[in-house]
Amino acid sequence: MKEQKMKVVSIFNQKGGVGKTTTNINLAAFIALKGHKVLVIDIDPQGNTSSGLGIEKEKLEYTTYELLVGDASINEVILPVENIEYLKIVPANMNLAGADLELSYMEHRESILKRKLEDLTEEFDYVIIDCPPSLGLLTINALTASDTVLIPMQCEYYALEGISQLVKTIQKVKKGLNRNLEVEGVVLTMFDPRRNLQIQVAEELKSYFGELVYESSIPRNVRLAEAPSYGVPIALYDPKAKGAEAYEDLADEFLRKQV
Ligand code: ATP
Ligand code: MG
Repeated sequence: MKEQKMKVVSIFNQKGGVGKTTTNINLAAFIALKGHKVLVIDIDPQGNTSSGLGIEKEKLEYTTYELLVGDASINEVILPVENIEYLKIVPANMNLAGADLELSYMEHRESILKRKLEDLTEEFDYVIIDCPPSLGLLTINALTASDTVLIPMQCEYYALEGISQLVKTIQKVKKGLNRNLEVEGVVLTMFDPRRNLQIQVAEELKSYFGELVYESSIPRNVRLAEAPSYGVPIALYDPKAKGAEAYEDLADEFLRKQV
């Protein structure tokens, strides 16, 4: 692992509520628990990844806001995550809500995160960025800084309508800002294989994305929705829950695909 270069992955889908944050928290936690060093960057003003990993959002001195808009270095804004040695986080809170506008006046506004990441002194195997459900400069900064995009998809009719917008955004970033950006994979979230529509949509996603669709899908599981209120990932909240098994499988599949 040591020789491998750090990989930066954005969890992105411009559609809201599809499981980006749940995937970020739980995938990152399992990868870290398996012995890989992971830095999560919360670039969403909702700050759900931060609170879901036990960070008290209101009390923070340094956040993603100070990193992107202020002059904080990446090394100053990293916090540990309790009980998971190999997991760290750059937290966010509502302060970040104004950043899109402030960034728009800044020089090289799309690549601020990318350049800040170059100053990292601590070694990480993976940096995983939780994007907001929008296509503004925060998301563009995440995609510009990333090697790959991991896309959570809910298998409902509207998922298909969102694909062209999603692919267009990735293409736009690829063309102008980050030629090397690739799709890491597509994960089906809140998936219920007993529902016909979900099966149909899953089939369409597979015919579009091919083997980029992970074999591990994430079922709807209430324990996954409960865990954030305790500020812990499912791996610590209820490791035997269906949702925990699913995210552990996803972490294994993600790691298998790295070499
Ligand atoms: P946003 O676009 O607002 O950032 P998101 O894409 O990050 O949303 P989440 O916050 O992860 O989506 O999930 C939306 C809601 O669905 C949350 O309340 C979350 O707890 C719940 N949820 C996500 N995945 C599951 C699941 N597999 N089973 C049950 N509930 C889930
Ligand atoms: Mg989210």
